[in-house]
Amino acid sequence: MPSPEPPAGPASPVPPAAQPPAAGAADARPADATPMGRALAEARAAAARGEVPVGAVVVEAETGSILAAAGNEVEARADPTAHAEMLALRAAAARRGEPRLPDCDLYVTLEPCPMCAQAISFFRVRRLYFGAYDPKGGGVEHGPRLFDQPSCHHRPEVVGGLREAEAAALLRDFFAARR
Ligand code: ZN
Repeated sequence: MPSPEPPAGPASPVPPAAQPPAAGAADARPADATPMGRALAEARAAAARGEVPVGAVVVEAETGSILAAAGNEVEARADPTAHAEMLALRAAAARRGEPRLPDCDLYVTLEPCPMCAQAISFFRVRRLYFGAYDPKGGGVEHGPRLFDQPSCHHRPEVVGGLREAEAAALLRDFFAARR
């Protein structure tokens, strides 16, 4: 993926110190153009709509371009299957006019549930990156461990724990505010 060149002006001989990860100060940070950064932004937007803060992004692996991005819309659509992953995968496939996405990666802020894990397999996603682990509702590393079942005919590569702390903090803050 091409990364933007840093400004090469004489005005900044010393690069600014790396920002510490500050989950509570997300709005103060510059826009994060990475796929997981975009997924986290979708999750924050979902929280602002009163949805459980989960966001998902489908990326064309070779080009790094984002095909689709979505947050949870369970409440807005009155549809318990309107998880971020389902919406993003459907939108990406629709955009391409193809039912499978074998050259695409899915980034999601939370370990997918069993339904979404099955959908990820059906869509033939190349690689799954997820943020926080979900011992209660997850279906990849927990519960049915769907990709390990003999009934699962496509297993994506799985990378869990990507920016886990930020994703988990979003969920924690959301549910804490509702208590
Ligand atoms: Zn799900």
